[in-house]
Amino acid sequence: MNTKIEKIAKNILDENDISYDEAYFLMQLNDIEIYDLLYWANRIRYNTFNNVVGLCSIISARQGSCSEDCRFCSQSSRYKTEIPNFPLIEKEKVAEAVEKGKEYKSDCVGVVTSGYSLEGSDNFDKICDDAYELSKQDGPPVHTSIGMITSKMAEKLASSGVEMINHNLETAEGYYPNICTTHSYKDRVDTIKIAKNAGLQVCSGGIFGVGESVEDRLDLAFKLKELDVDTIPMNFLSPVKGTPLSTENSLEPMEILKIIAVYRFILSDKGIKVAGGREENLRDVQSWMFYAGANSTMIGDYLTTRGKLPEDDLQMIKDLGLKYNVGEMQKH
Ligand code: SF4
Repeated sequence: MNTKIEKIAKNILDENDISYDEAYFLMQLNDIEIYDLLYWANRIRYNTFNNVVGLCSIISARQGSCSEDCRFCSQSSRYKTEIPNFPLIEKEKVAEAVEKGKEYKSDCVGVVTSGYSLEGSDNFDKICDDAYELSKQDGPPVHTSIGMITSKMAEKLASSGVEMINHNLETAEGYYPNICTTHSYKDRVDTIKIAKNAGLQVCSGGIFGVGESVEDRLDLAFKLKELDVDTIPMNFLSPVKGTPLSTENSLEPMEILKIIAVYRFILSDKGIKVAGGREENLRDVQSWMFYAGANSTMIGDYLTTRGKLPEDDLQMIKDLGLKYNVGEMQKH
């Protein structure tokens, strides 16, 4: 066992923070030492979450035709991709997604729309109305991922029964211009601050494998820690034909497990969710994500791509001796 990893981990278990230099050291580990890292990441996960993992499902509620140029995204109108575009779906479809989420043991159902923001649009009011009605029913809570929000929008979401919003920072501030040029990193940070000020919980993470450096990965983790976000979704690029990142090389599974583990060391008591790109990138070691420190994942289909069969994911969790949906999850 690598004694330096053990010392850093025990310090975290004693409720101390990891330093940037220590996290950098962990990011440089290779080969057999990664297994030591995973062992301790799992211990740190267990310290907060015990044997419970969370599940989250999403529905693409308005798809494509986006004005922005995020280089990994199939929904940007600037790239020729093969996904169908559609306007805001009707309430019945959102209700169906909530029903499915209940069946899949989801802790929440995320309603996700493409685009920079829904400010001033009827779509925003419709989403709030749907969330309010669905919040009165017996199903998983509705969360939203609707781009940038203003303080007024945040207050309306909160009063409509929405407890959490998703808004990813995507990558480090220094690398952000390499993946998006149509809006600023500050816009994204502002939305997180606005949501938190309105009492909403915030789910914010990033996408890995988009050409970022080890330092960029660390900068993102420490920024999310500084912003005190509640849950960190970690997406791993699955290159989409037609996007500028379509020829990007995928990350190796062990590299991905290492990134998850280092995030667990840095964000020791926060929710860490393995999200998009899990199936394609982790392949046969998907079930290792929890041993690497994640305490939740997505279940069902993604926005524009298919996920694993929900029953297979539920079986995987049972096979690991873990539990889902015990009604106590605070962090997904
Ligand atoms: S703002 Fe969202 S939907 Fe639009 S291109 Fe970026 S990631 Fe895709």
